[in-house]
Amino acid sequence: MSKPDYKRILLKLSGEALMGDQAFGIDPDTVARMAEEVKAAKDTGLEICLVIGGGNIFRGMAGAAKGMDRAQADYMGMLATIMNALAMQNALEQLGVPTRVQSAIEMDKVCEPVIRRRAARHLEKGRIVIFAAGVGAPYFTTDSGAALRAAEMNCDALLKGTSVDGVYNADPKQDVGAIRYDTLSFDKVLQDNLKVMDASAVALCRDNDIPIVVFSIREQGNLAQILSGGGISTTVSN
Ligand code: UDP
Repeated sequence: MSKPDYKRILLKLSGEALMGDQAFGIDPDTVARMAEEVKAAKDTGLEICLVIGGGNIFRGMAGAAKGMDRAQADYMGMLATIMNALAMQNALEQLGVPTRVQSAIEMDKVCEPVIRRRAARHLEKGRIVIFAAGVGAPYFTTDSGAALRAAEMNCDALLKGTSVDGVYNADPKQDVGAIRYDTLSFDKVLQDNLKVMDASAVALCRDNDIPIVVFSIREQGNLAQILSGGGISTTVSN
């Protein structure tokens, strides 16, 4: 595979990527390792927008399943993403990488609000911008937040780092015969209801022609390899 021609990417990491072997929460050693992966990607010369989920702390759907009001639970999930963003900011800055956190829920004691032009300036100055609190509204997820920020920040691709090394035709954790796709179209993902991202996030990327690259963030060095044209991943595009 040839080296992708990216100048600016959005990297989405699930909250679970920060919990390591713990069943819950933030594991500082794991966050430090993730920060090294992100730094290695940045050192290839890219501008990087980062979105981190909150599933390691709280998901609105899980609260709703136990009887909570869904919107209230979703706001708790959004707050979880801000904690993860601050943890990642800390880890990146300990590696000497300048960052800014911008949150869709304003919290001016700890981070900036989302201001597109300011975010663009940070990127131009070589800072990583971590977008927290998803789209800032309940009934969405950070996948949709990632697709939205990728579109508004004119990113060349959305890279989704998860615990699986791509998109399969069946759940690889349940079915040993599951086959990984190298490439897929957005329409097939939506028609076959393949678990890449939420349908709203996939549709936003399709409509704005932003390819989604799904890869495992657990494999050390995989992200940097993908950025130089190798590694294991699935690319979803038009
Ligand atoms: N959330 C939300 N609106 C958003 C983004 C997130 O309501 O725009 C809430 C939602 O409850 C979600 C939780 O925050 O479950 C954590 O985000 P997500 O589930 O996307 O995290 P991930 O699975 O990537 O760790």
